[in-house]
Amino acid sequence: MWLLVFLVWSLVFTGGTYWYLFGTRSPFSLESVRPKEPIELDQRKRDKVLKKGFSRERIPENLDAIIIGSGLGGLSAAACLAKQGKRVLVLEQHDQAGGCCHTFTEKGFEFDVGLHYLGQLHKNSLLQVAFDQITEGQLEFVTLPQHFDTIHIGLGEERREYSLYTGKTAMEAHLKKQFPDDTEAVEKFFKLMKMCARKTHLLPCLKLIPRWLALFLLKSGIADLYCNIFRLSGTSATTWADQVTSNKDLQVIFSYLFYGKTCMTILAMVNYEWFEEWKDTTVRKRGDDYTEYKMRFANNLFNWACEHFPKLKDKLVYQEVSTPLSNAHYLGAHRGAMYSSEQNLARYDPISMAKNRCDTPIKNLYISGQDVFSCGIAGALHGGLICASIVLGHILYVDLLFIKKKLKRNSVVQALQKMFC
Ligand SMILES: Cc1cc2nc3c(=O)[nH]c(=O)nc-3n(C[C@H](O)[C@H](O)[C@H](O)COP(=O)(O)OP(=O)(O)OC[C@H]3O[C@@H](n4cnc5c(N)ncnc54)[C@H](O)[C@@H]3O)c2cc1C
Repeated sequence: MWLLVFLVWSLVFTGGTYWYLFGTRSPFSLESVRPKEPIELDQRKRDKVLKKGFSRERIPENLDAIIIGSGLGGLSAAACLAKQGKRVLVLEQHDQAGGCCHTFTEKGFEFDVGLHYLGQLHKNSLLQVAFDQITEGQLEFVTLPQHFDTIHIGLGEERREYSLYTGKTAMEAHLKKQFPDDTEAVEKFFKLMKMCARKTHLLPCLKLIPRWLALFLLKSGIADLYCNIFRLSGTSATTWADQVTSNKDLQVIFSYLFYGKTCMTILAMVNYEWFEEWKDTTVRKRGDDYTEYKMRFANNLFNWACEHFPKLKDKLVYQEVSTPLSNAHYLGAHRGAMYSSEQNLARYDPISMAKNRCDTPIKNLYISGQDVFSCGIAGALHGGLICASIVLGHILYVDLLFIKKKLKRNSVVQALQKMFC
């Protein structure tokens, strides 16, 4: 009798899982990726797509989904739903689409807002495959030069300078050269990074499987036995770096967050309260006192940058300064937070990750973007993919992994054909 019950349960479970994973048509396919079209540089033509003013008459009928916010997270979710044949409306509070990824032009200079560089975009990586599928192959990234970043630590005579190279092999070898007494720590760091790059996709899975199952796997320790990415996601970079080296400069490099690329961008953390008294003023008309106040920050930061790069001093043509009030206005960010909700360690604890899901207590209201998984371009994209998976009741990651596998197989076949023809 019990055997029969078990067999029926196993059949239902297997059938249900199969249906969940493969029962719906995939919105993705190799064929949907088109050759790259030329980049549209005509601002008027770009604006026709990016700046569509709202009017009631423009709202299509029989909508399946309304996406609030056109950042990378919202647009990724929208693209996945639309590719699955859903009728989708994206609403944006700013006058143009893109969120942190929008660009703006002032006095003839184009500024990008929230993307300077990102990694894991090598051929057939999950991130590259996901971007290709969502944009039908139209998104193009420029490869970073080999020496892509320079890190300065300390001032005056105490100043130390380190350079970073792209590519995991070159980066590791170059760091070892600069830290000859810490080669073992560098090796450990790259081993860890390799594992994280391979296993990070397990973290979104916590949000895709039933919540009770995710919590059971984590609390019972089964998840940790399977892979230590779950334990690591709740460990701070400082704690880890402390364990592998006492070299403070190397610790900084292991946990660094610096930006470079066309315009010079200087990022500094500031408190919302420092600017709060102007919160009710209108953007671009906040008054001379506000402009003077924010320019004090800008000038100090620029002078500081010139200490490191003296040749910049007479190269300054135009300077634009944004504050938490700019983030609040243009991104709808609460109290101007640059990465939306708090990016603290508690948030990345695996139990919190399993609990922080796309679905909400409000029926048919789902969350997407950087608040679901993590900040950053890749984080927001995962937020969009997780959200679309939950809404469609179909795990899009399975489709992406199949495409990735096919692409890898095709590359091997092509390489063999080249060798023998
Ligand atoms: C200065 C800066 C530099 C960065 N550099 C990098 C980098 O080099 N590499 C990297 O990986 N990441 C970087 N990031 C982070 C990355 O850009 C973001 O994490 C990511 O783009 C967030 O995407 P999102 O869709 O979650 O949110 P957002 O891009 O913020 O999109 C949210 C959208 O929702 C809209 N919205 C909000 N409220 C409403 C409402 N009520 N009604 C309608 N619309 C609404 C907003 O206007 C916005 O368009 C940077 C961020 C900043 C700020």
